[in-house]
Amino acid sequence: MDIGNLPPLNKKNVIIALGIEGSANKIGVGVLKFDHGEYSILSNPRKTYISPAGQGFLPRETAWHHQNYVVAMVKQALVDAKISHPEVEIDVICYTKGPGMGGPLRSCAICARTLSLLWNNKPIVGVNHCVAHIEMGRVATKCSNPVVLYVSGGNTQVIAYSNNRYSIFGETIDIAVGNCLDRFARILSLSNDPSPGYNIEKLAREGGNLFVELPYVVKGMDVSFSGILSYIEKEARGKLASGAVTPADLCYSLQETIFAMLVEITERAMAHTASDTVLIVGGVGCNLRLQHMMGEMVADRGGSLCAMDNRYCVDNGAMIAQAGIFAFQMNACTAMENTTCTQRFRTDAVDVIWR
Ligand code: MG
Repeated sequence: MDIGNLPPLNKKNVIIALGIEGSANKIGVGVLKFDHGEYSILSNPRKTYISPAGQGFLPRETAWHHQNYVVAMVKQALVDAKISHPEVEIDVICYTKGPGMGGPLRSCAICARTLSLLWNNKPIVGVNHCVAHIEMGRVATKCSNPVVLYVSGGNTQVIAYSNNRYSIFGETIDIAVGNCLDRFARILSLSNDPSPGYNIEKLAREGGNLFVELPYVVKGMDVSFSGILSYIEKEARGKLASGAVTPADLCYSLQETIFAMLVEITERAMAHTASDTVLIVGGVGCNLRLQHMMGEMVADRGGSLCAMDNRYCVDNGAMIAQAGIFAFQMNACTAMENTTCTQRFRTDAVDVIWR
């Protein structure tokens, strides 16, 4: 498959990587195999920390959750992948270096270091979480050089590749689109199980009829969601009480507005880069309404949309292994003393040496 890789410096024909992800409320461990040019996921278990309705997930509680489950996740990933001697069978350990929440990130970095020491000083690769989403998406959809819309609880970026960088063409200037949805779900006291965004999507689809006009905030290539959130919160308090609108109407109106904003800036990036494919990654990328709206825009331009389901869109360990294996193939490992993590780590700070 052509994903634009340079010939690897590391000439091994078979490589097995273990990836550990835990930058937000999911702890995931994946085992990925590279075998003569093909990548396959051998296992990818994941566990989500679900906070009570009306509440978000806080760093400390989330870190506790990850610390409690990471050993079980590693064991399950190895069993599912039928790996009984990881100290010889695993070639490299990959973990999320950032961006994300401090406590949860640190829990995973410590796990990666510990496993490396347990398994004869196994090489480690620290991975940028955003780049991992992109690389998983490119491999899973076979979309080699798309404009990427990365939408999740912590990130909102329109990205395209150029000169060994994933350049950010547009982004949110305040909160992420997923954070806007999560916080609106809290206002409505919707369940966080399986995710607040999923419950908003379901309510909008099943009962949203009335479109309530909301602020539409696109500034050049950037978007802003915090004012929309404040505005709809006020609408919710006033109009829900009087019965003028239903929660479903508000969910529908919010989705239509913020997804239209995302489609607009993605279209502009397509025009600028003369690209005809769009790849959507990140947790919000599972939203079928967003996929449909994006699909219509892309079809109008004669292009194609690459989207994934929640196995790959949502944070997982295999995506960390995927980006890590690319770096490993270029012999770009992280020295033990540098296996730290960082809450701020921009997508365009990574030297993409494998393309
Ligand atoms: Mg993510």
